Amino acid sequence: MDIKEKLLFRAPPWLKNLMISAYGWLEQRKRYGSFYRKNYQQLSLLMQATPEAVLAYHSKRLRELLHEAITYSPWYSAVFQQNGVTADMVANEPPLDILGRLPLLEKTTLKTRTEEVMSANPAREAFTTVSTSGTSGSPMKVVFDAEGRQGTYAEWRRYHDWLGLPEKFHSVRFSGRIIVDPATTRSPFWAHNWPDCQLFMSAYHLKKDYLPFYVEKLSSFKPDLIDGYPSAVYILARYLLRTKTRLPFQPTAISLTAETLMEHQRKTIEQAFGCKVYNQYASSEGAPWIVECSQGNYHLWLDTGVFEFINRQELDSETDVAELVVTSFRNFKTPLIRYRIGDYVQLYKKPVQCDCGAPYPIIRGIIGRNDDILFTHEKGSVGRLDPAYKGVEGIQKSKIVQYTPEEVAVYLVPEEGFDDSQKLLLIHNLKERLGSKLSISIKIVDDIPPGKNGKLKSVERRFQLPET
Ligand SMILES: [Zn+2]
Repeated sequence: MDIKEKLLFRAPPWLKNLMISAYGWLEQRKRYGSFYRKNYQQLSLLMQATPEAVLAYHSKRLRELLHEAITYSPWYSAVFQQNGVTADMVANEPPLDILGRLPLLEKTTLKTRTEEVMSANPAREAFTTVSTSGTSGSPMKVVFDAEGRQGTYAEWRRYHDWLGLPEKFHSVRFSGRIIVDPATTRSPFWAHNWPDCQLFMSAYHLKKDYLPFYVEKLSSFKPDLIDGYPSAVYILARYLLRTKTRLPFQPTAISLTAETLMEHQRKTIEQAFGCKVYNQYASSEGAPWIVECSQGNYHLWLDTGVFEFINRQELDSETDVAELVVTSFRNFKTPLIRYRIGDYVQLYKKPVQCDCGAPYPIIRGIIGRNDDILFTHEKGSVGRLDPAYKGVEGIQKSKIVQYTPEEVAVYLVPEEGFDDSQKLLLIHNLKERLGSKLSISIKIVDDIPPGKNGKLKSVERRFQLPET
């Protein structure tokens, strides 16, 4: 934790609100410039356009990105040359063909050679540096120019349009940011960003005794949008249902991100808040967006980047699991071209259409990180374990850890309703998916603390997947 964060969370509430609001106000001034307006207008038009028009834009942006990289990035210009790609080819050949000739960009390269990867274009002054949360290992810093930064806010605004939110709205955010002293036992467990009508709520104080304070504050603040980590919103939702609390407001949408969203979490949250839950994917280093629509399908926003899928393996009769490789149009200052981001997705074997009318193709879902995929000799790769919780009562938090192909442990924070029959049901469900020969132990614990980045990992594999 840095000094700024410490100062912030130790400040009295009034000062904290002032500090966060001042920051919000400064950010607003950076956000709404000519790039924001231009980008937002363009993105709004594309959202209503035909798939062909989106593809034409996709191709145009990719060519611009390749041109930027070969012209201004020392790293990429060397890589392009080594792979026989010239500036002339970038200008004239189909950009997707050129992309296919380039190697993957590994995370370690981006981390250790950031300066060389960055564009030295004098028109792209550094504007903001974003730190990624660093799921594994140390965080990474990625630099944006003004165009990229304002473009990101334009994308956020389009996402809010996608959710049906008006221009001004109240939002509540649960995230890994520590805004309240983790040791405090007294409300308030939140802080205001007044310029953005936003309330940051601590995800670290969601304990039984404090939950009534959260409900009271939410009831008076009446958010139109709740966003953040599924594990945090789920705890609140469980509490609302258990205490049969009816909220005096109904949000327009709940948008969840960063952790794998499990189906039982989604159901409980939708029931407790009476609105639809949307799952959303985009990383802080600037990965293109994957967004759930009103029909529950995951659309690849092709106007924010290129998605490629490698190491594809069968998951079940209808879907495959694959590693995601991204090329992003969101950041020309630090170009990400064929970037191996480390996340996995679930794909349909046959193309499937969504009838929501959005001009973007769909995939089955977002799985998360590589270590969210388990492996057993009996069943091979297993990508989604959340159906195993179906019908199991009385679980507040849980985490599945696989130590070896033969051994799985479920760490579990129980609440009312969890008994031996529920335990047996959970083991039965897990064996159905992972195989009957597996040893499964249930370990009852008081809490499952989130990782250093504030995210709770719900599934984790602690050994290397065998090569395929
Ligand atoms: Zn759709």
